[in-house]
Amino acid sequence: MPTLNLNDLLEALQIVLPKEKNPTPLHEPCFFGNEFSYLKDCLDTGWVSSVGKYVDRFEDMLVDFTGVKRAIAVVNGTAALHICLKLVGVEPGDEVLVPALTFVATANAVTYCGAIPHFVDCEKRTLGLDPEKLRKYLLEICEIRSGGSFNKETGRRIKAVVPMHTFGHPVDLDPLIEVCTRYKLELVEDAAESLGSYYKGMHTGNWGRVSAISFNGNKTITTGGGGAILTNSERLGELAKHITTTARVPHKWKILHDQVAYNYRLPNINASLGCAQLEQLPELLKKKRDLSNRYLKAFENISGARFFAEPNYAKSNYWLNALILEDKYSNRLGELLEMTNNLGFSTRPVWTPLHKLPMFQDSPRMDLVVVENLEKRIINLPSSALL
Ligand SMILES: *Cc1c(COP(=O)(O)O)cnc(C)c1O
Repeated sequence: MPTLNLNDLLEALQIVLPKEKNPTPLHEPCFFGNEFSYLKDCLDTGWVSSVGKYVDRFEDMLVDFTGVKRAIAVVNGTAALHICLKLVGVEPGDEVLVPALTFVATANAVTYCGAIPHFVDCEKRTLGLDPEKLRKYLLEICEIRSGGSFNKETGRRIKAVVPMHTFGHPVDLDPLIEVCTRYKLELVEDAAESLGSYYKGMHTGNWGRVSAISFNGNKTITTGGGGAILTNSERLGELAKHITTTARVPHKWKILHDQVAYNYRLPNINASLGCAQLEQLPELLKKKRDLSNRYLKAFENISGARFFAEPNYAKSNYWLNALILEDKYSNRLGELLEMTNNLGFSTRPVWTPLHKLPMFQDSPRMDLVVVENLEKRIINLPSSALL
């Protein structure tokens, strides 16, 4: 009977990761392009803040890279999600379907709108929201009326669903889109982790009516802090720009705002960093894929755990590499985390599922058996492009 041997696991890690880099961080940014010269340009010209050429350039580069019609740069990914939900019409008292296994920002953004996150289970195949389980669940709990779908139990409207592409691995979107169409749900992709990831050949963030990306320091590329709203609707793109920039009405000298809006624009200095980072992105993605291939190979013959590989319909950016322990070894997760961190390998467990956090304890949910099981089995491995 093959069993889990922690020493074999450590040996595999040591084969992949360079010895001289100790401790090895989970994810480090790398700046080996024009970062310094663009930042210096901002400082030299004084264009560091809310206006400047780099914001426009960064947005154009994002459009080119992802293939969306419009990209709107904002202060962070959470702000991007918040505005995405507003743009599709999420209102106070609505419910929004969110995977239970995600970073807290996904549900926080729902709460900022006065709406209630409604937690959905994930599937082992993708680590993301399970469309088939959601379909069956909605059949049971939903009533479709002219104004949308309503939760029969709470009486609240279910307005939108926010799948999240976990660690950069795309959710199975086609069956999810069918569910959205049937139940009149708006699709908002939390693509915070998936810059450089493709579902059936098209970049993530193109499938939802609007989508959010993050450029936080630990993401595939960074602007220090930052995010973007992506959309294929010109109208929503315009509106996104307007309400993330205080809804100022363009005029030569008059200062006029036509609604309560947000100061969420990305400063020029952050955008300059983003431009330099986007120039590097193809190279970074290549390096990350190479690292994941090395992991895949090193863990091939290890029993008791497997390296998580992209679903067959997808091309993933492998933002964070993950090892999945076999069910029967879930009791050894703590030991493995302790051991690897002691040796200087910064490994991490997955997020605590959101339905277990104090502020979401009363949120509605389906049964979340897969998420609760995955929580005990996922371990993230050092994933910097430079490794
Ligand atoms: C990083 C991330 C965000 C947004 O993060 P910010 O730090 O606000 O840029 C949102 N959702 C997920 C799943 C993330 O990983």
